[in-house]
Amino acid sequence: MSAALSVLHGVFGYPAFRGPQEAIVDHVIAGGDALVLMPTGGGKSLCYQVPAIVRQQQGRGVTIVVSPLIALMHDQVGALHEAGVDAAFLNSTLDWEQTQDVELRLQTGAITLLYAAPERLTTPRFLGLLDDLYQQGHLSLFAIDEAHCVSQWGHDFRPEYRALSILHERYAGVPRIALTATADALTRADIIERLRLEEAQLFISSFDRPNIRYTIVEKKDATTQLLRFIEREHAGDAGVVYCQSRKRVEELAATLVEAGIAALPYHAGLPADVRQQNQNRFLREEGIVMVATIAFGMGIDKPDVRFVGHVDMPKNIEGYYQETGRAGRDGLAADAWMAYGLQDVVNQRRMIDESPAGEEFKQGLRGKLDALLGLAEATDCRRVRLLAYFGEASEPCGNCDNCLHPPEVWDATDCARKLLSTIYRVHQSSGIGFGTGHIMDVLRGKKTEKVEQFGHDKISTFGIGAEFTEPQLRAVLRQLLATGAVGLHKVLLESGHSFDTLCLTDASRTVLRGEVPVRLRASTAAAS
Ligand code: ADP
Ligand code: ZN
Repeated sequence: MSAALSVLHGVFGYPAFRGPQEAIVDHVIAGGDALVLMPTGGGKSLCYQVPAIVRQQQGRGVTIVVSPLIALMHDQVGALHEAGVDAAFLNSTLDWEQTQDVELRLQTGAITLLYAAPERLTTPRFLGLLDDLYQQGHLSLFAIDEAHCVSQWGHDFRPEYRALSILHERYAGVPRIALTATADALTRADIIERLRLEEAQLFISSFDRPNIRYTIVEKKDATTQLLRFIEREHAGDAGVVYCQSRKRVEELAATLVEAGIAALPYHAGLPADVRQQNQNRFLREEGIVMVATIAFGMGIDKPDVRFVGHVDMPKNIEGYYQETGRAGRDGLAADAWMAYGLQDVVNQRRMIDESPAGEEFKQGLRGKLDALLGLAEATDCRRVRLLAYFGEASEPCGNCDNCLHPPEVWDATDCARKLLSTIYRVHQSSGIGFGTGHIMDVLRGKKTEKVEQFGHDKISTFGIGAEFTEPQLRAVLRQLLATGAVGLHKVLLESGHSFDTLCLTDASRTVLRGEVPVRLRASTAAAS
């Protein structure tokens, strides 16, 4: 039996590796770098814990685990102790004496896995310790957990992660394994670049969570809708409900309690002891519903969360998928339920507009928000859309709201073709592209100053979309953007500003020819 398997059996008590775990473990034990993209609950921890133990047995010394969350470190180290593994952590909860004790044990080779916060790892004092271990050949492996924290494109950027790029140069030859459950192409490329993982082997698991049923409803009265959902489908079950603001968390938790549901609030504004107490109750008692901001969840390993609700729309699909991924880690049926409204989108857009970030970065954020809105408005399989967003092709799942209850649709193909023709004609007539507002004006036959200035009231598509409302047109445009039938082309002005213009793509042609229908929810189309 391989050393890895005997550790899996003997230390962790599991009969077999899951999915790609074995290939990852073998690669890392052999000294290779790895970037592991695995959904929440996929079993990332074992991917570095098993190599850490095996390599320690081979006399290679300690594995350093970089982890962003203190709660996560405590849980993991506690679990490792129970399994009889020498593990420790270094973070701000330790006093001077405890810190010295851990450092001493580290120097004498008594620790197999050391968990450390990134800001701790890059202090001169800690680097000095690592230098010594490295020179003695006792620095075995670096594991960088929640690696998306290094990327601004991730939903959980932590500047301290940036400093981790030094590990590569300073400790050449020490293998590194970076792990994350966030896997869109932009974030992935950023992780590779920032952490200098160009040589690492990429391990991508399927991101599908087949036991989670996705449901996205239009928001009318989110509280009542949520109550009905819980009462009908999840009475007495454990769940998490995410809200955008602390105030909303408090209000909603109180409303659920009034309705006889065992709900508790959680957000960063609550005193630390209250937060800890609520978290403990959620983990230990049955059937607690945690009403929370996104401050809650990372590193919480509760297998029997039966539903995750969103009463407000998150910022992007990565966040949505990570949060919903906390449901059903035990593999049993679970629900991801979200209520979305256009007001959410307006609020999120305003937050983006008012943020101090650069314009290009804001455009990226708006694009991500639109992708999530595209998902909410989709009339076809949610899972197909979600997985496609992460670069994975799939077939309709039969286990999402759209598959189970196909929505009433409005055939927007004609509208989409008029839109595409207008984008084309306007470009043809002026030799440059234009933004959404102007295209809408031409399509709806509005003689604005700009329209007249460019003579766009003279082109054949002027006013051909007069029967559509602006919200309808915007909804159609979002679907076209979400499916790639319209592209964005950035135009740089001499002033240094830039703006996005709409342009046609290869996929536009299939829509223009009527080969691919465009469908919207009848309710979205009516909302004007
Ligand atoms: P992640 O960090 O990817 O969210 P974890 O490492 O916390 O996932 O693992 C999720 C759950 O699956 C844990 O309860 C873990 O013990 C369990 N698990 C992981 N790998 C295996 C395996 N090979 N066999 C059985 N259970 C496993
Ligand atoms: Zn489906």
